[in-house]
Amino acid sequence: MPQKKTPQDILRRYYGYPSFRARQLEIIESVLQGQDVFVLMPTGSGKSVCYQIPAVLRSGVGIVISPLIALMQDQVFALKQNGLRADYLNSSLSADDVRHVEGRLLSGSTDLLYVAPERLVTESFQGLLRKIPIGLFAIDEAHCVSQWGHDFRPEYLQIAAVTRRFAGVPKLALTATADAHTRQDILEKLDLSQAAQFVSSFDRPNIRYRVQLKVNGKRQLLAFILNEHPGESGIVYVRTRKRADEIAAWLAEQGLEAAAYHAGLEQRTRLERQRRFLREPAAVIVATIAFGMGIDKPDVRFVAHLDLPASMEAYYQETGRAGRDGNPADAWMAYALSDVVAMRALLEQSEGDEAVKRLRGRKLEALLGYCETVACRREILLGYFGESHPALCGNCDNCLQPAETWDGTVAAQKALSCVYRTGQRFGAAHLTDILVGNASPTVLRHGHDRLKTFGVGQDLSAAEWRSVFRQLAANGLLTVNLAEISGFRLTEKSWPILKGTQAVRLRKDPPVKKIGKTAGRSAPPIDDAVDEHSRPLFEKLRQLRLEIAKRLNLPPYVVFHDKTLREMAARRPSTRAELLGITGVGERKVELYGDLFLCMIQDRPP
Ligand code: ADP
Ligand code: ZN
Repeated sequence: MPQKKTPQDILRRYYGYPSFRARQLEIIESVLQGQDVFVLMPTGSGKSVCYQIPAVLRSGVGIVISPLIALMQDQVFALKQNGLRADYLNSSLSADDVRHVEGRLLSGSTDLLYVAPERLVTESFQGLLRKIPIGLFAIDEAHCVSQWGHDFRPEYLQIAAVTRRFAGVPKLALTATADAHTRQDILEKLDLSQAAQFVSSFDRPNIRYRVQLKVNGKRQLLAFILNEHPGESGIVYVRTRKRADEIAAWLAEQGLEAAAYHAGLEQRTRLERQRRFLREPAAVIVATIAFGMGIDKPDVRFVAHLDLPASMEAYYQETGRAGRDGNPADAWMAYALSDVVAMRALLEQSEGDEAVKRLRGRKLEALLGYCETVACRREILLGYFGESHPALCGNCDNCLQPAETWDGTVAAQKALSCVYRTGQRFGAAHLTDILVGNASPTVLRHGHDRLKTFGVGQDLSAAEWRSVFRQLAANGLLTVNLAEISGFRLTEKSWPILKGTQAVRLRKDPPVKKIGKTAGRSAPPIDDAVDEHSRPLFEKLRQLRLEIAKRLNLPPYVVFHDKTLREMAARRPSTRAELLGITGVGERKVELYGDLFLCMIQDRPP
């Protein structure tokens, strides 16, 4: 059991990390002094140690309230693997297990207890709480207390009533998602008006943001995974359950370890797939939004959107599940005109009063604007959350390969007048036929070959016209006519263009890379992966880690992170002391696996 030590001692000895990250120490010290704190930091920034270390250092048990029952076991195992004394109580435990945990609590042999909110609020659990000294309360995923977010959990509203009975015990509320409104809710509903607030930048510099034109989404996705992330793990987001099933089945046919995840599956199947995703190093999950909250897997190397996300908030949250370990990761999206049409139709159909509709409209504009932008994507993304980002980030597609633009004013005028002259009810394919002068059967049937706009657009290809329509729809210069499936109608923003009082700049769509050709990274990743020399050893160490993890039925990263293995492969430690010098190797891990890894590195039998 840890003696009176400093936070740094704990970090080094148990976690194997040499130093704290920005603000961690400040937060820990506030809690050690008995302060309540509110922590709003992006995923992967290291919020957990902010309550784990104080829980070890303060006398009494740290109570961690978390809604993520499926992950508690892994979280607690990971802590135990580091040599810390942690337990959890949730509905998955047998009566016997529960008794053991309670025994450890009463005998003072646990420093951290993870509980689900449902259990926290029960009479019997509160009876237990009164019998043990409590060091702190940590409320993880604190945004669940707010009805504004989409993860609202009613039990969270009762937490304050419980913690109020323990005056003087510091509380931490932690979240990675909170707009101003949710944040206010958290402070109010969790009784945190006096809390010290720690809010950090929302930038995730290791994530590379890219958006490309969707031509054949499935194949583009496959090429992206095979070319850039072979043998790595990622999440693919789609909008419907059916599509999740289809895409997952197709990827599996192509030899990938892919599975679908959505709310239409049985709970048991969902849990099993989630567990598999956490354990298998190359697992790909194809999911609807039902998947993700609290997915604690640090080595998700890519998040791909094959359909538009619901909003910028959803996009930030979903892409944020990539690269929690700080290593390079991709946020990749393929999107097409049909996505814009679908989203616009949803908006037009949506119920609610004018104010709500306007808000939804603005949210959609922001999302589509992000997709179409030629500016730095990070700047746009962070700007949306009210954070300014200096100049070019150098790690998004637009920064790496500046997009070209062209004066699309005349093209826009032709396109819009074509919409107008055909009665504002046709879609892009028909309109394009008219513009390029293609006398298709439908064009002839409607007599549209006799329109003034017939054939006026021969200077552009059909693909270029599609791009024009997509951008007009994305920029709100066109919207969907609900009476006609996928037909366009003008908006009030269309008129200044038609009248020639406003110009339009459009982006030139880069050609979509041929499937199968290696796309390659256009710039070296920030934290350069593994050099040629250490690659074979790195692969062997990964294999060893996988074997150990399988034997213990643990996710591989609970044994060691990739980052740690990479450093081992590069520095080749030959003694236990040298091994301890590697980031992410604490004393307990050396005891558990040190010799196995040293033997592998020295290429001698264990
Ligand atoms: P969050 O809860 O904010 O999403 P985590 O607490 O899961 O993030 O931490 C993300 C990763 O960063 C974890 O793998 C964690 O072990 C690691 N980490 C945390 N603090 C440090 C540190 N000071 N040095 C190195 N790695 C750290
Ligand atoms: Zn950029």
